[in-house]
Amino acid sequence: MTDYDFDLFVIGAGSGGVRASRIAASHGASVAIAEEYRIGGTCVIRGCVPKKMLYYAADFAADLKKAQRFGWTLPEKKFDWATLRDVVLSDVTRLEGLYTQTLDNNHITHYKEHAVIDSANQIRLASGKKITARYILVAVGAEPAKLDILGAEYAVTSNEMFLLPSLPKRALVVGGGYIANEFAGILNSFGVETTIATHGDRILRGYDEEIAARLVEIGQGHGIDYRFNADIARIDKDSSGRLTTHFKDGSQIESDLVLFAIGRVAKSRDLGLDKADVKTNDRGAILVDEENRTSCPSIYAVGDVTDRVQLTPVAIREGQAFADRVFGHKAASVDYDTIPTAVFSHPPLASAGLTEEEAKKRYKNIKIYKSNFRPMRNALIDSPDRALYKMVVDGDSDKVLGLHLIGQDSPEIIQLAAVAIKAGLTKQAFNDTVALHPSSAEELVLMR
Ligand code: NDP
Repeated sequence: MTDYDFDLFVIGAGSGGVRASRIAASHGASVAIAEEYRIGGTCVIRGCVPKKMLYYAADFAADLKKAQRFGWTLPEKKFDWATLRDVVLSDVTRLEGLYTQTLDNNHITHYKEHAVIDSANQIRLASGKKITARYILVAVGAEPAKLDILGAEYAVTSNEMFLLPSLPKRALVVGGGYIANEFAGILNSFGVETTIATHGDRILRGYDEEIAARLVEIGQGHGIDYRFNADIARIDKDSSGRLTTHFKDGSQIESDLVLFAIGRVAKSRDLGLDKADVKTNDRGAILVDEENRTSCPSIYAVGDVTDRVQLTPVAIREGQAFADRVFGHKAASVDYDTIPTAVFSHPPLASAGLTEEEAKKRYKNIKIYKSNFRPMRNALIDSPDRALYKMVVDGDSDKVLGLHLIGQDSPEIIQLAAVAIKAGLTKQAFNDTVALHPSSAEELVLMR
């Protein structure tokens, strides 16, 4: 039997890679991991975690306004971006430390350098060191896409948003997906004049259309300018740093910041995949089977680099299942059905299960229940934030197929609602549950 330096070599210490390493080590495997940037990956270092902190900070803008209506006298409000940025960055460093500690506690050897595949069982580090492993796991994630236009270098991506030296006065956010809507809400709450420009005719494709339209209505109420069917031709920068974005229809927008949020692409370049005949699709995503095995039997891939569901909890589950299967000899798999998701816009959206459009394609008799209401929290103030909850039900079996919410706390609510959908509960089961009053969540059991 061949002797290898390690049982497992993982490339990429993000959510999927760290989980796979830890679980493989707990099953007795000798494990090494290489990370060229920072331990923790996109979610911890420049994604979900610092974004959620900015989201909370932005929430205070509306809360402070509401507080006065609820009897509070406040001194003059002042927001300092640098204070927030630095405190968030230092928390990211704390979390990076915890992730590193996890690797150490599990006796995982880590290399802080770029690693490439040299052959089916060999890795080459940037330093030139060669390491052999029985299995290789690619968990390098994805990176923000950039438009291939003149002046693209003047735009930033979500990576740089956490490091801005100062807040812009005016921002143009390009794209209409998760990242665009999350940052548009954050910037708008901090008082930045914000425009969203997307090339299509709607935002948040894949989300329920009415719920997405409600976010546009509310965003407009808060002063966000939405431009649809907006194709960018080029970006110019003048000597004072002001950016002018030119659209193909001849219109233009001036701003101090342009953020590209047009999707994320698998980071599969410069990995040596061809050396082991690891196949990718036309977008560069690594092709894997249902057990996350690539076209090379000793090489596996999990998470965003496989571009199936670009969500942290999915990468974690895939990493866990891979390690349990290969090193724990357990029959582990990932269930991709009913994955709850949320967009941390202002207000947030949350969804689980089928949208109305998807359900109509699969079922003959779809029933839709809706609740369109002003959350009690907004009762005393003049706010455009009307909540909308939508339930998609199979009229024949009465099973709840999907729930789609926009309104404060909807991500917190959807997590439990997803359990009910996954358990196959019926609309009658929701009806039979006594409401918790007064709350927004009670609308889930009161829709008729
Ligand atoms: P998304 O895929 O969510 O959205 C991309 C958006 O950009 C779409 O609205 C798309 O429009 C638009 N677009 C594409 N090309 C252009 C173009 N040339 N000009 C203008 N607009 C364009 O990508 P994101 O970058 O927002 O996020 C990447 C992934 O990261 C998400 O899919 C998600 O999985 C994950 N993520 C998850 C978060 C969460 O769970 N809360 C938060 C942040 C990211 P159209 O659809 O019309 O083509």
